[in-house]
Amino acid sequence: MSEVLVLVDHADGTVRKPTFELLTLARRAGTPVAVFVGATEAASNAAATLAEYGAETVLVADDPVYQNVLVTPAAELLAHLVGSRQPAAVLLPSSFDGKEIAARAAAKTGSGVITDAIDVDADLTATQQVFAAAYTVTSKVAKGTPFITVKPNSVAAEPAPATGAVEAIDFTPSGTGARVVSVEEKPASGRPELTEAATVVTGGRGTGGDFGPVEALADALGGAVGASRAAVDAGWYPHAHQVGQTGKTVSPQLYIAAGVSGAVQHRAGMQTSKTIVAVNKDEDAPIFELADFGVVGDIFDVLPQATEEVKKR
Ligand code: FAD
Repeated sequence: MSEVLVLVDHADGTVRKPTFELLTLARRAGTPVAVFVGATEAASNAAATLAEYGAETVLVADDPVYQNVLVTPAAELLAHLVGSRQPAAVLLPSSFDGKEIAARAAAKTGSGVITDAIDVDADLTATQQVFAAAYTVTSKVAKGTPFITVKPNSVAAEPAPATGAVEAIDFTPSGTGARVVSVEEKPASGRPELTEAATVVTGGRGTGGDFGPVEALADALGGAVGASRAAVDAGWYPHAHQVGQTGKTVSPQLYIAAGVSGAVQHRAGMQTSKTIVAVNKDEDAPIFELADFGVVGDIFDVLPQATEEVKKR
């Protein structure tokens, strides 16, 4: 069976959930091979987790260039691996970096690229949602090696133990491209990452800019905080927390929409959540069409009461 390369998304060796989803998809189309860009020591820790999700081989690219230069070395690396290993496809996460790396590597290898897929079949047909998820389209790369970026949380990651043999890659990237000149650490919020959280509490325009009750409920539930575009555009919450068509796609066990109307572009980023709860003072708000549970009320009354109840348990 041909290999399917998966670019590993990790933080210092801690593999992020989207990688396990990519490995699950890779298994359908061939033998999953994880490509780990980072320190060898971190890779050997990650290899065990990658193997649990089906990585037969973990290729490790360890060079300071990968840390000091943005995306271009990873694109060079993948282009090199496509030439040397002739994989059936390369799967990457649909992050900003993932999409840029895919586009650059595909251009270098004369290949086609599909972005923001929500599924990939055994024959490498990719499914995408377009026009705010109003239409579903399927497409297939017809030239070169398919580079496919997949939206996080689109498929369930399924474990399937494999070997996870670690192999060093003998390749030195050129090191040209935009360089990292400084790194500013964000103060840790203590909350889980939005796309990985089991619970997301999202605030919309209905918050009037006061995300206090939204954050308090998220903290009581151990969840992440999301925001609608209206809230982000108003400068009330950072864009990194935006849920929707032009934000992030989330699929938690529990999604609580507080003061969010439920526009189609917002739904595009949260409609696959397992249980959806909406709190809105307008009983005709479209979000109620989608919600499993709805509370017609003011979020400044409802959320603090819910937070108190959760804290009692
Ligand atoms: P509104 O639509 O104004 O709704 C606010 C809701 O809060 C209302 O239903 C109101 O009844 C309720 N409310 C007000 N006060 C209270 C209160 N005190 N208690 C309870 N309820 C209250 N939107 C996204 O969210 N994500 C995207 O990624 C996104 N991408 C877009 C891309 C494009 C190309 C376009 C054109 C639009 C996009 N939008 C996106 C915008 C989207 O169309 C909506 O404008 C946006 O989602 C509205 O945000 P909202 O629900 O917070 O605000």
